[in-house]
Amino acid sequence: MTDTLTIALSKGRIFKDTLPLLAHAGIHPVDDPETSRKLILDTNLPEVKLVIIRAADVPTYVEYGAADLGVAGKDVLMEHDGDGLYEPLDLDIARCRMMVAGPREGRAPRRRLRIATKYVNTTRRYYAARGEQVEVIKLYGSMELAPLVGLADLIVDLVDTGNTLKANGLVPLEHIADISSRLVVNKASMKMKHARVKAFIQRLAEAVAAAGGK
Ligand code: AMP
Repeated sequence: MTDTLTIALSKGRIFKDTLPLLAHAGIHPVDDPETSRKLILDTNLPEVKLVIIRAADVPTYVEYGAADLGVAGKDVLMEHDGDGLYEPLDLDIARCRMMVAGPREGRAPRRRLRIATKYVNTTRRYYAARGEQVEVIKLYGSMELAPLVGLADLIVDLVDTGNTLKANGLVPLEHIADISSRLVVNKASMKMKHARVKAFIQRLAEAVAAAGGK
């Protein structure tokens, strides 16, 4: 059906911040993903469904067309391999910075720097562009712990208020990228469902502008 729209979202911050934008496009979910165990949520519009998945899986669902559209952080998109996505709109939500961070009194080790992060691809690219050879250690969370226990010299993580770093005696050192959530669109859906998708993007763009964004 060329009229249906499936939108991939992740729970938490992205879902909460995307809700008002969807409302502007006339879309209201019937269930709350924080309390429902359903992975496919109905909305007030019978042809529009929301799929609730892990943030890091959103680009994959959209690239393969399992969802027509999705909302993903720029951090997740930079880490995703593949080029099957359009990224037509900065939603200006969930803003933060991707930073290199470490101990205030960090000393350069006599071996390669070790960097702990969940953003392995982005970190490798960042240091490669500077011509620095580093060892990147993949972690799935609590990156701040790594320098404290000698697993790594530095970390690459998202920083918002800086409180998490501070609470662990770390300081932000280098800015890698400004992060916010983006609307992503499957390339085939953009062609096959052009009118529907275009109208949806337009409504979201208006909502972003009304919220004081770009
Ligand atoms: P803060 O203490 O406010 O600097 O927040 C840092 C913690 O929140 C880190 O663990 C980050 O991974 C996480 N965080 C901050 N902003 C975001 C965001 N926009 N999206 C996802 N995680 C975030």
